[in-house]
Amino acid sequence: MLDIAIRGGLIVDGTGLPAYRGDVGVLGGRIVSVGGRAGDAASEIDAAGRAVAPGFVDPHTHFDAQLFFDPHATPAMEHGITTVVTGNCSLSLAPLRTDQREPFSRMFRLIEEMPAEAFAEGVDWRWGEDFGAMVSALAADLAVNLAPLVGHSVLRMYVMGDEANQRAATPDEVGRMADVLRACLDAGAVGLSTSFVDIDESFRPVPSRWAAHSELEALCAALGERGRMLQIVHEFFDPSLSVSRVEMLGDLSRSYGIPTTLSPLFHNEATPGAVEQVLAAVEAQWRTGARVWPQVQSRPIDISFTLDQRSLMFLVIPGWWQVTSLPTHAERLAAFADHATSEQLVGHLDALASSPAPRLDPGQFVVREVVLERNRDLVGRTLADIAAERRTTPGRLLVDLAVQEDLGTWFVRADIGHRDPVAVGAMLAHPQVHVGASDGGAHVGSFATYGDTGYLLSRFVRGTGALSLEAAVKKITHDPCVIWGIGGRGLLAAGYAADAVVFDPATVDRGPEIAAHDFPGDGIRWIRRSVGVDAVVVNGALTWTAAAGYTPARAGVVATR
Ligand SMILES: [Zn+2]
Repeated sequence: MLDIAIRGGLIVDGTGLPAYRGDVGVLGGRIVSVGGRAGDAASEIDAAGRAVAPGFVDPHTHFDAQLFFDPHATPAMEHGITTVVTGNCSLSLAPLRTDQREPFSRMFRLIEEMPAEAFAEGVDWRWGEDFGAMVSALAADLAVNLAPLVGHSVLRMYVMGDEANQRAATPDEVGRMADVLRACLDAGAVGLSTSFVDIDESFRPVPSRWAAHSELEALCAALGERGRMLQIVHEFFDPSLSVSRVEMLGDLSRSYGIPTTLSPLFHNEATPGAVEQVLAAVEAQWRTGARVWPQVQSRPIDISFTLDQRSLMFLVIPGWWQVTSLPTHAERLAAFADHATSEQLVGHLDALASSPAPRLDPGQFVVREVVLERNRDLVGRTLADIAAERRTTPGRLLVDLAVQEDLGTWFVRADIGHRDPVAVGAMLAHPQVHVGASDGGAHVGSFATYGDTGYLLSRFVRGTGALSLEAAVKKITHDPCVIWGIGGRGLLAAGYAADAVVFDPATVDRGPEIAAHDFPGDGIRWIRRSVGVDAVVVNGALTWTAAAGYTPARAGVVATR
């Protein structure tokens, strides 16, 4: 008797080969039959008129903290995500010494925009300091599968202490880092992540940015002993620097026999030709036998914000980061309401907007939500439009409206990029592009990092047809498992782990971006519910259904252990 029989679905098995109708049989956490008619089962899923695919893999997430209070990585699970890669961008919760928790937490909360209360209440450090112990603590109560990266910044802090973001490492320290990395890989790490762009609370480059190239080479040599992944966040805003990083990754990949990935690669009208330039460099590296995978997300980029919380985009406007970082609401409101301060802040914003190639144009900001009934008709309008009517500037209007509404107004900046469906579709379909870069679990107050798979299947399969259903499913199942060396997953095939998603190819989508109040502490996060997904199975356990929601199943494992 089977545990689960998924009956009569369109089997999209992850290989990219044409889909066909049949049953999928599951027993003891594994797939035992694909196609044909499965035998009797304790539990039946009627998949008539639905597609059945392997569970989706999200290769770029920051669920590290969230998984300690939310074993499903909600709402990623209900979109069909059954495996997440954590620890991206040089930041993982281990290995970390007790006295480094506070500085690390500040850095993680800043870079990944995680509310302080959620982090403080949700992460209890119950595992101590060790990477393997951290992974085991997570695995004890996990509904989604985990493939954890070790963060290079964290590795440096562990070996070099306070000097991790002050200097290059000595040969002895590099040797110790490589040893610690080996121990992490033995404990299930899927690779190493490093960052070339991020800064910490004191505006200093994060520790990984202080590494000499020889340090990175030594760590890649350790990765090479296990054939494990190097992930980097590169200077994505600069095409020439991005090309240099692609070439650097090609060198490391060839020298040490490792796969490498860089994220994110965006399409942006402001830098025409940039994507072509970077992809040409990627193709050149592949021709030499290197593995360099640029990650591309499916969704357009927009940022929602209020003046009552800091947002990474304020970093580029003089004064704004400092004011929005003030500890209390009363202090932030007082600063924006103060005539002299607000004159200065608005002046800096207007100056930025009137520069020859503005990186930020408040006139394009749209009013998203208002507090006061009398402002209701402003929702959906640009600040440029409203400011012209009121004979003021967009910057002045932004501050005045926010102050009038006790800083409760939500604005959205939707002009950032990745909005051309033809260009983005071609990127997603490119054979050397890795579909990912969701940033799941990060930037929770700025935008929803969930539902990118639903958007891929609705917008680029059903909508523009840039990818066939089979090709799109392969891109988010089998491909990431091969790219990351996650064995025994990513296909509907006998003997494979039974991670599966049942969805309706005619309706699958991401829901609208909505505010949720489900994190520890106050504050909101932006989420999207799934549309057209019926059921999600993780290691043979029914973990989410559209009818009943999340089940008590906790079948997630460390997929790389
Ligand atoms: Zn990231």
